[in-house]
Amino acid sequence: MNTFCRNHKSYAAIRTISSISVAAALDPPFQEHGRVLVTRSSFIQNLQTLVINCADQRRIRQGQSCHAQILHFRLQSDAITSNILINLYSKCGRIEYAVKVFDEMRVKTDVSWNTLIGGYTRIGGSNESLNLFIKMLREGNGITEFALSSVLCVCASKILSFESLQLHAFAIKTSMESNAFVGTALLDVYAKCGFVGDASKAFESLPEKNDVTWSSMMAGFVQNERHEEALKLFLTAQRNTVEINAYSISSFLSACAALAALIEGKQMHGVVFKIGFGANQFVAASLVDVYAKCGSIKDSYAAFCTADEKNVVLWNTMVSGFARHARPFEAMILFEKMQQMLYKPNEVTYVSILSACAHMGLSEKGRKYFNMMETEHNLSPNVFHYACMVDILGRTGRIDEARDLIATMPFDATASIWGSLLASCRVYGNVEVAEVAARELFEMEPNNAGNHVLLSNIYAANRRWEDVASARKLLKESEAKKERGKSWIEIKDKVHSFMVGERAHPRINEIYSRLDGLFEEMAELGFKGEIEHDLHDVDESYKRELLKHHSEKLAFTFGLMCLPSCAPVRIMKNLRICGDCHEFMKIASALTGREIVVRDNNRFHHFRDGRCSCGEFW
Ligand code: ZN
Ligand code: ZN
Repeated sequence: MNTFCRNHKSYAAIRTISSISVAAALDPPFQEHGRVLVTRSSFIQNLQTLVINCADQRRIRQGQSCHAQILHFRLQSDAITSNILINLYSKCGRIEYAVKVFDEMRVKTDVSWNTLIGGYTRIGGSNESLNLFIKMLREGNGITEFALSSVLCVCASKILSFESLQLHAFAIKTSMESNAFVGTALLDVYAKCGFVGDASKAFESLPEKNDVTWSSMMAGFVQNERHEEALKLFLTAQRNTVEINAYSISSFLSACAALAALIEGKQMHGVVFKIGFGANQFVAASLVDVYAKCGSIKDSYAAFCTADEKNVVLWNTMVSGFARHARPFEAMILFEKMQQMLYKPNEVTYVSILSACAHMGLSEKGRKYFNMMETEHNLSPNVFHYACMVDILGRTGRIDEARDLIATMPFDATASIWGSLLASCRVYGNVEVAEVAARELFEMEPNNAGNHVLLSNIYAANRRWEDVASARKLLKESEAKKERGKSWIEIKDKVHSFMVGERAHPRINEIYSRLDGLFEEMAELGFKGEIEHDLHDVDESYKRELLKHHSEKLAFTFGLMCLPSCAPVRIMKNLRICGDCHEFMKIASALTGREIVVRDNNRFHHFRDGRCSCGEFW
């Protein structure tokens, strides 16, 4: 008790309490050696302050000691004291004790109900929270904005859209809709349930918005992949002089990461530096993430190193950054180091470390980590870990082993698992397993033309022309649509996007003629183009023409035209980079002396001096 209280305002209070005898406590005012020590009411007040402090600091043991004192002096019938105890147990996650105090109360006040609902919300007890809310209504208790927003929060965390609608109706009926807490909880629940339009409406209709309201809306946009809107909202908030908080910074950085908007990310880093949110662990992790996802692993690691306090999320973000950038050895070193610093790897860490092994085809290391999960950290591999393992085996040519692993998995394989197996079959020309994987994929993703393309490519590489023809026929009949390729590049804080065969960009003619010039120079270095990577029912010369104008080639050429000569060219693409573009970027990096970074929907490729960091695995 003394250690706890040493630096505490209530130190004096507890010293006083412990020096009072039981008998004296019940006979106010308390006397000792003829001197008034403390009155009964101030004794109760001191004890209550102490419990409140215990709750704020999540000190369950000390809080329980106070509870013992309360029982000892028979002060439990006081409603305020009971509410404070409910709050203590709710905040410390011991909801069962909170319920016990609640049930033993002779008079239950509105505050007691609200506090208990808040407690259930904190532990994510959606049913209990909702049931208590309904009971509270039935018994005619006054519902506060706090209780309503609490129940909405728990609905948001469990994505309960139907219940949320009912609660929204209730909010309208009781005119609580425009309350800042309720309105914020409403927009949050809509965003989490995927109704971002409704979230936006709830946001707009709020007469008074605080910084939490603004940051919740930004987070809502990010969760629903409306990243540009999140960035815009941040700027609007700035214009309205809304206070910046850690959540809004974090959302802004997540949006930058998703859009690979390095310039905005850097600007925000400057802001963080200036206003001092660097110590916040959410912000630190977002900074590490934004640099990693924007292709700048050096800056990412620098942000990681300067973070004052590191938690598991931050370590995981950095391990995943190295994995993404095909730096498996750095990822492994960090994995060891985090354990030396007594941070326990969790499921997320293992996904990252396994994917680091997968990207570089390190099968033995992968197997080691996969086994370590259970033996050293008592974690059962989930579907993502199995997916990584299938990927590792497939990439290293152990196609049959990969297929066997899928067969013994404790759950059904996902489309991405079959997809990675199919991609490995393409690299190793394994038609037999490719057909198995493709059959599964056609059923799971009937609209994904990419699977038909892959299977057809595998047949073509094995010169099975009849099968190629039937695969194409199947594709036509299946109505599967191939998503159109699209690439982005950021030039002077403006994002330029290019579709395959782009026509609309204002400088497109210039881009095509520069690209033609590049092809001529590259032809001298032996670049011919790999037409089998594209599946179009057209003749070869036209096919070559289509390949030439893939979106990443256009984005790259535009980057060459606009960026300073020493700057790396960073491109983002919505689909996997094709073999032809991959070859193109390798040769272009040698020809122009540029570093080229392509982030496709699967991974990063760093091209430098004619080589790619992926080692041909993608
Ligand atoms: Zn391409
Ligand atoms: Zn590559």
